[in-house]
Amino acid sequence: MSLADQQIIHVKVECKHCFGCGIRKLSKSTAAILCIQCQGTGYQEINQPVFTELKVIPGVETVSNIWGDGKISYFDFLAGKRP
Ligand SMILES: [Zn+2]
Repeated sequence: MSLADQQIIHVKVECKHCFGCGIRKLSKSTAAILCIQCQGTGYQEINQPVFTELKVIPGVETVSNIWGDGKISYFDFLAGKRP
């Protein structure tokens, strides 16, 4: 699948820093501050390709976990096995 074939999804999701309020309340106060992540909109926009299948990285032969254990072949990884 080429990049031109990829479907891009555009969605607005609730800002996870202010939970959609656009502001953050200061503790033990009646005051609030503007959410620095969403600038008061209450949402964040996601524009990402829809996932359809794993992409293949040429030249990879083995895959292990983050500690370097459980090494398996890249072929097995692509077939669904995990280290
Ligand atoms: Zn926010």
